[in-house]
Amino acid sequence: MGFLNKDDTKLTDTSKVIETLTNEINELRSLNARLSSILDFSMDMICTVDEAGVFISVSEASYHILGYKPHELIGRLQSDFTYHEDIERTQHARQMVSQGLKLTNFENRYVHKNGNIVPLVWSSRWVPEEKLRYGIARNATEKIRAEESLKASEKKYKDLFENNPAPMIIWDFKTFDIVDCNKEALIKYGYDREEFLQLNIRDITPVDDLQLIEDFSFNEQEVGMKHKKTWRHLKKNGNEIIVDITGHLIQYNGRRCVIGMLNDVTEKVILQESLEKQRLALVVSNKELEQFAYIASHDLQEPLRMVTGFVSLLMKKYSDKLDDTAKSYINYAVDGADRMRVLISDLLEYSRAGIKEDQIIAIDLNDMVNDLFSLYKNQIDHNTIKIETEHLPVINGHRAPIRQVFQNLISNAIKYRRSDIPALIQIRCEEEVNCWNFSISDNGIGISREYHEKIFVIFQRLHSKHEYSGTGIGLAMTKKILESLGGKIWLTSTLNEGSTFFFTIPK
Ligand code: ADP
Repeated sequence: MGFLNKDDTKLTDTSKVIETLTNEINELRSLNARLSSILDFSMDMICTVDEAGVFISVSEASYHILGYKPHELIGRLQSDFTYHEDIERTQHARQMVSQGLKLTNFENRYVHKNGNIVPLVWSSRWVPEEKLRYGIARNATEKIRAEESLKASEKKYKDLFENNPAPMIIWDFKTFDIVDCNKEALIKYGYDREEFLQLNIRDITPVDDLQLIEDFSFNEQEVGMKHKKTWRHLKKNGNEIIVDITGHLIQYNGRRCVIGMLNDVTEKVILQESLEKQRLALVVSNKELEQFAYIASHDLQEPLRMVTGFVSLLMKKYSDKLDDTAKSYINYAVDGADRMRVLISDLLEYSRAGIKEDQIIAIDLNDMVNDLFSLYKNQIDHNTIKIETEHLPVINGHRAPIRQVFQNLISNAIKYRRSDIPALIQIRCEEEVNCWNFSISDNGIGISREYHEKIFVIFQRLHSKHEYSGTGIGLAMTKKILESLGGKIWLTSTLNEGSTFFFTIPK
């Protein structure tokens, strides 16, 4: 019994072991099944290959990547599917793996079932206990495409930078080291590439301007935004150039940099400076001329008064002793001196025109114009002069010169009227953004085109003083006043039909 019992125990133990083993095997199987279904989920192709290079197991991804179901690959040589140009290289890599090398990122190409070439990236290792090579292959088509398009776009930008007709420099935002530049920049500064890329922006900046760099870079916000600034720079030969730099912050090779596009404005600035010098010289010489005209006309008045006075005295005291010829000579002398007096006082007035002695005040132009027309009240009442005036604005300015402008133009419109029809004078005003645009038109004798500029020159007249009185100073003075106010004057006119004088007064 004891034996039997013993055997019974043995039997029970063995069946327990078998049961346990069966359970474990089943568990392992289900684990294996779960594992292979997980592997089949992978987008990468996971496979094992034996020493001879034959596929032993392949995950489902083979279908997506190569167009072959796993069973179409299992049992066949890997090299059957490798693109012929890559077979030798791949075999060499396999040998290395068999010798224990863990391979990662090995790239080769397989041939898809449809004949297309598929780039793959492999990770692979040899498991000696199983005498199998485990491999994971990833389809690299997208990666390669992305890399290529990145390369293409990098090349495009590099080309745009390199071949840009404007000089371009990239420098480190903090250190000011020059990190890159294009061909034009090298030509502009006269350095070769190696030399230039050794430099710092400070090296091409005149000593006097170094502080400007520090001040500018301090203001990060200004630099960060697209900015434009003018700098003085030095070329390799020491010559100074003036450049407008349009720049903004970029990330370049992992550094915060400023990319700047340069515009050499040296010549423009030199030209501007010389124009400004000329302008200042003109202002000075104009002032001197005005002063000269003023002093001359002022000082000439006194001797002229003496001449007129003594000639008149001569006439008064000795007229009974003089014959008619002598008297007529004296009359000519008086007349000449008189004309000279008018000219001198006109010249004096002209030299003073535009000098704004009075205060800026609000001027109601309606009142001013009505006041001027009151001088012609008689003719207006008798319908020899007709006036049409739009409602005029109230403007801010110097009263005296503005009144002078209106007076000169209105009196001319009346003076140069046609004798056969009543004079019609129209005054209009249009408001513009920066100025008032006035026009004074008449239906008078008109001015032929060739004289439209000449009439603004001092003492230039189109008529003798017997036809129309005057000295030819009115329009010259009007022009001078308007220009000194920052305005301008021009006209349109047709002979025998009338004229319109336009002028602007800045607001
Ligand atoms: P003045 O009237 O003293 O001659 P201005 O300088 O005012 O001097 O005018 C210059 C010339 O322009 C005048 O001699 C005249 O021939 C011409 N002119 C000016 N205004 C008019 C006008 N409204 N119609 C025709 N001619 C004009």
